Amino acid sequence: MKEKLTPYLRKLSRLESIQKQYVVQEGAYTGREYNDPLMEDSHEVVKGLIHKYRNRALIKVNYLCAAHCRFCTRIRQIGNPAGTLKEGEPELIIQYLQEHPEIEDVILSGGDPLLSPAVTSRLLELLLQLDSVKVIRIGTRLALQSPASLQAQSIQSTLNLIAEVRKQKPFYLLLHVEHPDELTEEAVEAIKMMQQRTGAILLSQTVFLEGINIDFDILYRLFRSLYFIGVTPYYLYHCDKVAGLENFEGDMEKEIAIVRRLRSELSGIACPLFIVDIENGYGKLPVDLGLMCTAPSSSG
Ligand SMILES: *Cc1c(COP(=O)(O)O)cnc(C)c1O
Ligand code: SF4
Repeated sequence: MKEKLTPYLRKLSRLESIQKQYVVQEGAYTGREYNDPLMEDSHEVVKGLIHKYRNRALIKVNYLCAAHCRFCTRIRQIGNPAGTLKEGEPELIIQYLQEHPEIEDVILSGGDPLLSPAVTSRLLELLLQLDSVKVIRIGTRLALQSPASLQAQSIQSTLNLIAEVRKQKPFYLLLHVEHPDELTEEAVEAIKMMQQRTGAILLSQTVFLEGINIDFDILYRLFRSLYFIGVTPYYLYHCDKVAGLENFEGDMEKEIAIVRRLRSELSGIACPLFIVDIENGYGKLPVDLGLMCTAPSSSG
């Protein structure tokens, strides 16, 4: 994965919190081949469609992002133009969904679906027609990487389409935010614009990243700020065990201690679920915070 930043992030990258996310650090991983411990490729049932959990599926609309996060789980793919769904491919995905009505929750991901808005719009139009699909989500980091890009005509029309779709199916926009420094005035404005334009429900996810956010105060500020702009923190991940991400993986015990404190000091809605995505394709599991053991017992 090549280094890639937007002009907006270049300006912000004097901040260590941003620089470490995007700029290749000295002594960074150069060893083994990139791998796929979450076994996405073996669950790719049709090009771009990952069917790993019975009732929900993830569509990789492309492998393109405005900027390349060094800690990306899909570091093996990001930046490859071959990942973009071509003409006819959205239809093949829809055909699979038709044949598998047990799939009722569809996530558009990538890459960033907003970087190929025409393909995303096409998929949304098709998904809207599919009665078996009850809920749609889109994961995007564009508001944090290049807030001005959201003004592009093509993206605005996708946002307008989302406003139509969500009248018929619950629609979630899933942001990805790691540090409160990312919530600049411009980014917050872009997030609010997306919210107002689409009427979608806004969620966020965050990854614990060594040297960036494994710190109570940082995450407390982050989740509180998100909550206050109408974004509900959904998942907080332990860094995936993907080759190339070793420098970002933090200490699990330390993370558990942070999440325990977050759980007691944040509003319940503002506190995401701490998740580890287990290797070999087992999937996402909540991390045991051990709270039951420490609660004072009523019998004293
Ligand atoms: C995370 C993920 C989902 C959605 O999981 P939820 O826990 O419902 O958010 C679906 N498919 C794949 C491949 C995923 O990685
Ligand atoms: S925006 Fe998401 S998909 Fe793209 S590089 Fe960053 S983490 Fe990976």
